[in-house]
Amino acid sequence: MKKVISIVGARPNFIKVAPIHKAFQKYDKTVQHLICHTGQHFDEKMSKIFFEELEMPKPHFYLGVGGGSHAEQTAKIMIEFEKVVLSEKPDFIIVVGDVNSTMACSLVATKLGVPVAHVEAGLRSFDREMPEEINRMVTDVISNYLFVSERSGLENLKREGIDDSKIYFTGNVMIDSLIYYLPKIDKSTILKDMGLVKDSYILGTFHRPSNVDSEVSLNQLVDMLNNLSATKKIVFPVHPRTMNNLIKFGIRDKISQNIIMTEPLGYIEFLALTQGASLLITDSGGIQEETTYLGVQCITVRDNTERPVTVTVGTNQLIGTNLKNVEKAAFNVLSGNLKKGSIPELWDGKVAERITKIIVEKLT
Ligand code: UDP
Repeated sequence: MKKVISIVGARPNFIKVAPIHKAFQKYDKTVQHLICHTGQHFDEKMSKIFFEELEMPKPHFYLGVGGGSHAEQTAKIMIEFEKVVLSEKPDFIIVVGDVNSTMACSLVATKLGVPVAHVEAGLRSFDREMPEEINRMVTDVISNYLFVSERSGLENLKREGIDDSKIYFTGNVMIDSLIYYLPKIDKSTILKDMGLVKDSYILGTFHRPSNVDSEVSLNQLVDMLNNLSATKKIVFPVHPRTMNNLIKFGIRDKISQNIIMTEPLGYIEFLALTQGASLLITDSGGIQEETTYLGVQCITVRDNTERPVTVTVGTNQLIGTNLKNVEKAAFNVLSGNLKKGSIPELWDGKVAERITKIIVEKLT
């Protein structure tokens, strides 16, 4: 029996590992698939609810690292994960996405000679001020297998001199979860529960440091949302980082009554709200992809995206961080100027199947 450990640390990781865990069940006579949760996101709303909704087992290993600076968190994960690798002697490690857990665990595993696969490899924003960009670059350079979600990833890895033999274009695993749970998403009563009508509200999420860590930009963001909310209801599930800063800067009470603020939502409820929205305004990576798959209008409040296919093929508009421009673009969408999009290559719900097949072939 071969032992494979997948690493999860933060919200988007759970959504990517869930289909991989399901796909490994087909090989349960030859491969034991275990989940290691680093504890980067640890509370009920950012972690536990996803394990329940995505039908994942309780993590087999829990490192409990919590918050801290980037160096502290990365170092703590490395120290704790090394103990797991030494005692469990896994045959293979899977890391996903671009969080500190991704980079920390890939470093530990490769240094101990355990092969590493990076799922969602090759994405680049070309913005080294984003901590995620550093995590992506380091992880890709040391991983043995690189599973790529969109063609831009292939070009980036090639340009960085990564050997072709390591690279596999398998598609977007996050969309596997979306496709699998669509029947449940369709049945969600969240719109009714919140008194919302389909296509009559905006859904907003913001958590990138560049938008929410400075008082000036967070103030401008709230002003923009307040202006838009005079025309359209806005649902605003607030990320813990954003909520801390809204409170710290004394901005929370400035938010208009027409904005429904909630805690971070569970996966099914959030996707049901996405599907029903007239427009998403976001700085999230994953949400750019989910709106593209669902054909929902999306405005990205960032100067760059590591997921360019959502703009070239999908419904995403990369507007930048000038909030006057964002407001203009939002009114433009609300007045009926919709961006047409289609579904990118290999975002077909079979990505985890392809990835696990390749890994099992290598292992057995
Ligand atoms: N999401 C969620 N509840 C929320 C907001 C987002 O379930 O209140 C989901 C969303 O559908 C997507 C993922 O979380 O699948 C994106 O995570 P996040 O924006 O935190 O990370 P990023 O993709 O930017 O790394």
